[in-house]
Amino acid sequence: MEGTIVINLTSAFWNQNPEKVFNLLVHEFYHNGFDEHCENAPGGETQTTAALVEEVLWQVQNEGMATYVAYRAKPTHLEVEDYRLLDDSAEVHRRFATVRKLLGDIESADPSAIPQLRARLWTEGVEDRAFYIVGAHMARQIEEKRGLEVLVRTVPDGARTFVEAYMSTSPPGEPLLLKEGSGVARYELEPTRHM
Ligand SMILES: [Zn+2]
Repeated sequence: MEGTIVINLTSAFWNQNPEKVFNLLVHEFYHNGFDEHCENAPGGETQTTAALVEEVLWQVQNEGMATYVAYRAKPTHLEVEDYRLLDDSAEVHRRFATVRKLLGDIESADPSAIPQLRARLWTEGVEDRAFYIVGAHMARQIEEKRGLEVLVRTVPDGARTFVEAYMSTSPPGEPLLLKEGSGVARYELEPTRHM
């Protein structure tokens, strides 16, 4: 079944709207391409907090870019909950705070806490859409400020490059992904890097 997309067309989610189905397919096709070109996907259940941090960043990039690509492709009148959140700066800021807190809690946790932290990837990152909204906002900023090529290049170059590219675009007032002085400064952009 690898590479197979299954959609339940009878779900109420679609509201009998074929445009919504096609738009979701853009999101899912993006994942198929990402899987082919991303060279550093996390493998299996991570056992260390450092690996869990990488997994969060990878999910932010993967789900965020899939959401942004479909958002870009949508007909102007199409209404999808994720896009409503993405266009609401208070919702975007709240989800950045969620991801920052999650990353900070993982960084300072004992490895025995990994199962509880992993559960939060689902409830906060997926159910509350934090990975989708944060990553899509980051992708939009990167494309607007650095251009499409830089954004596309982050797929083979990996999630850290995605974060670095975003940090390099961040004007005052944009939400930060990482807490200042949080011990994750390694994700900050090197000053004169050519991308
Ligand atoms: Zn997805």
